Amino acid sequence: MIRVLEKNLTDKIAAGEVVERPLSIVKELVENSIDSGADTIVIEIKRGGKEYIRVSDNGSGIVFDEIKTAFLRHATSKIEALEDLFKIDSLGFRGEALSSIASVSKVEIVTRTKEAETGGRALLHGGEVIDFARTGSPIGTTIVVEDLFYNTPARLKFLKSDNVETTPVVELVSKLALGNPGIRFRLINNSKTLLSTNGSGDIKQIISMVYGKEVGDNLVSIYKRENTMEVKGYTSTLNLSRPGRRLQVFYVNERLVESDFLRNCLSKAYEEKLTGGRFPVSFLFINVPADFIDVNIHPAKLTVKFKDEEEVARLVMEGIKAAFE
Ligand code: ADP
Ligand code: MG
Repeated sequence: MIRVLEKNLTDKIAAGEVVERPLSIVKELVENSIDSGADTIVIEIKRGGKEYIRVSDNGSGIVFDEIKTAFLRHATSKIEALEDLFKIDSLGFRGEALSSIASVSKVEIVTRTKEAETGGRALLHGGEVIDFARTGSPIGTTIVVEDLFYNTPARLKFLKSDNVETTPVVELVSKLALGNPGIRFRLINNSKTLLSTNGSGDIKQIISMVYGKEVGDNLVSIYKRENTMEVKGYTSTLNLSRPGRRLQVFYVNERLVESDFLRNCLSKAYEEKLTGGRFPVSFLFINVPADFIDVNIHPAKLTVKFKDEEEVARLVMEGIKAAFE
């Protein structure tokens, strides 16, 4: 059930702006779709997402009576009490994304749960519900975001060219697709399919689909487990390297994260193998007990902090070493 969190709880959640550009909207909407249990997610953008973003899923849907609630600030179905903050198993939990997105754009939502015979549709302009009715809908949720920042011209000015806004969206969807190999993803840009995966669950196959055969063919698999921690994934052989770190992708407990700490671990692991400004390509999936990390430190939830970094570093280094042997 979607409810508004109590103030004493929201005060403890790191606050921050979740909507800066189309990228952040796509991230929030796709993460909601992942949380909804969908196995198919379609993302469509036009003009870098400034004009149009659509995210459709075949997940749980939202019951009619809770559709409007979902757009209230701090409304979430994912946590209820303070204890829940320490064992988050969903990507979202702040209940801020839909309200923030709706407040700076024109949003349409069409959604239906599998139990309901008809779905619901709401239209919001600048956060105000201007239309709300029952409607026919497939099971799942489609959210369309149009005219981003139409009511905040100062922020509109900070949006970049179509191409500059598109690139990070493509990169993000690529990473989400391989981090969720059991979900079928499709990304459409200006009516052209840029990326599609088959949800086969085979990470290596999906890496090839997303990043190309050259990358897929030059990886070795990593698997290392110790006590309650494990690291798995794929890392490049010495036949494959890049002049930058763009193809270093990290998932911690199934959450896509940025981590200078993990980048440094990779650099150390390859320190004697790669030189001259070349970087390894690595897709690392690290799983640790939920109370071993703090995901609450960054509002966009991009970073994590490990409680014991040394232990994680050791596991990653040993995992890579073993992969090479
Ligand atoms: P959060 O994800 O932090 O809970 P959001 O503002 O992103 O907050 O979403 C609010 C609520 O709306 C979610 O908790 C969820 O119950 C519901 N919701 C949003 N998107 C979807 C979706 N694609 N499918 C099903 N439910 C959704
Ligand atoms: Mg969310």
